[in-house]
Amino acid sequence: MAEIMSGKLVRKIVLKELKAKVIENEARLGTPGLAVIQLGDNPASTTYVNNKEKYAGKAKIRPEVHRLPADFPENELHALIDKLNNDPSVHGIIVQMPLPDHIGTDNAIAAVSPEKDVDGLAPISQGKLWTGRPGLRPCTPAGVMRILDHYGVELKGKGVVIVGRSNLVGKPLAAMMLERHATVTLCHSRTRDLEGVCRAADVLVAATGRADLITKSHVKPGAIVIDIGINFVESGETGEDGKPKMKLTGDVAFDEVEPLASLITPVPGGVGPMTIAMLLSNTVQAWLGEGS
Ligand code: NDP
Repeated sequence: MAEIMSGKLVRKIVLKELKAKVIENEARLGTPGLAVIQLGDNPASTTYVNNKEKYAGKAKIRPEVHRLPADFPENELHALIDKLNNDPSVHGIIVQMPLPDHIGTDNAIAAVSPEKDVDGLAPISQGKLWTGRPGLRPCTPAGVMRILDHYGVELKGKGVVIVGRSNLVGKPLAAMMLERHATVTLCHSRTRDLEGVCRAADVLVAATGRADLITKSHVKPGAIVIDIGINFVESGETGEDGKPKMKLTGDVAFDEVEPLASLITPVPGGVGPMTIAMLLSNTVQAWLGEGS
């Protein structure tokens, strides 16, 4: 039986630490401000934005949410980002993804000034990460590192396999694990013998968005398994409206993998809660002037 790594528990600890830091420094620095920009009303984005607002308050961070219509013009979005870049009461800016089709996502990400890039996704932040310079780190991978630290996982010399190579998750996580002296393999949809590669891992990370991709055949006994995936699948039950009920699940077939693993993150309640905790942590870091 694996020990379950609880992101909810670690988020609580992180929020408490952040609140203490804010209280310690607010007389000198004022209140940390986090600006969140949402275009349109994608239901998942609305949930994420509402959560950011809610948890910011718990860490004594002032959230400033800009809820804008889906057809908001791109030049006005850039004007808003510029304004926030120059607003001294705003220390972190995030543009909620996905953006509507008429907006260039890469340009919007790059428009946020590096010292306020609390998502850590702009090219300057990613470049700092890969070159070992201090800076704001992408939140989901930073959350994975924090949860591993909390559970006392030493990465030095370990074989880490990450399935998924996005700029959002897989690639920055690889950089962070390398920095900790792990030997990292990045897999993707063209990887040959995925099962065999995964089975060699001391630490196996799934970040694909493919429900139950990782089965017991991918896992070495005693491995540490991190599931970043968020997938909505039919639960097998029918709702009152006669439609199939949906449930949230990860990329790891939890029931069959958990007995083999030594430590595992569940979905929900694992990496998900850490992402928001690290966003707020980055905001406090930026507020303290330690963002760049
Ligand atoms: P992307 O779609 O950008 O990337 C998915 C990656 O998985 C790609 O590198 C892709 O390979 C790889 N992949 C897809 N299918 C397979 C397969 N059958 N075998 C091997 N590799 C495969 O997704 P993201 O990185 O943005 O997100 C990954 C998951 O993490 C999603 O479920 C997302 O919702 C979740 N997520 C969770 C967060 C959290 O807070 N918990 C935050 C961010 C994301 P290729 O490059 O070859 O196409």
